[in-house]
Amino acid sequence: MDRQRVATCIALLEEQYGVPQPDEIDPVDLLVMTILSQNTSDTNSLRAFALLKGAFADYEELLAASDEAVADRIRPGGLAEIKARRIKEALAQIKQYAGAISLFFLAGMGKEEAMAYLLSLPGVGPKTASVVLLFAFGMPFLPVDTHVYRVSWRLGLVAEDVRPEKAQPILERIIPAEKYLSLHLNLIKHGRLICRARGPKHDECALRNYCSYFQQGQKA
Ligand code: SF4
Repeated sequence: MDRQRVATCIALLEEQYGVPQPDEIDPVDLLVMTILSQNTSDTNSLRAFALLKGAFADYEELLAASDEAVADRIRPGGLAEIKARRIKEALAQIKQYAGAISLFFLAGMGKEEAMAYLLSLPGVGPKTASVVLLFAFGMPFLPVDTHVYRVSWRLGLVAEDVRPEKAQPILERIIPAEKYLSLHLNLIKHGRLICRARGPKHDECALRNYCSYFQQGQKA
């Protein structure tokens, strides 16, 4: 897809869903939320996060608690034992590295160094690290979740045979960096509401004139 078509798709999504603005959010909260969101719905993971934050005065207290006590608080998010262990290990490593459970030191790093640090933490892959760096620090990363990936290949932004983990650098090359946050959030909305995995609503889609998947279906 050429850059003009990409720009048009971004503009159409912003027309439909608005131009998202970054919220101020603590990067450790974001990291914990993102670990909790793995393999479950937003509703469940947000509930688990609220229960976790309500149960412990701060992350020091959480770190001192047993794995079982942490797991008990996050059961609604699924895979409670695994996620409790990952969260505690990640917090312990951050504390050991920075002397406190804080990630604000990442602001002083270059983007690749910050990414490498986050990837060294347990349970943190490129998507989780990109979410933290984009949303908490405004660093130019475009996280690719299941919705972003599906809508991207259907539109023709990446080839269908490109694996999800390879899609991020391709998208980052063709999307202007100042639109990463907007496109990430709006593609998630579009993937949930219109370009669903099963039964995409082509007739209601503002992007259909620019969509390879739809146009191929029209020709077939
Ligand atoms: S036209 Fe259909 S396949 Fe293409 S983005 Fe819209 S809903 Fe998805």
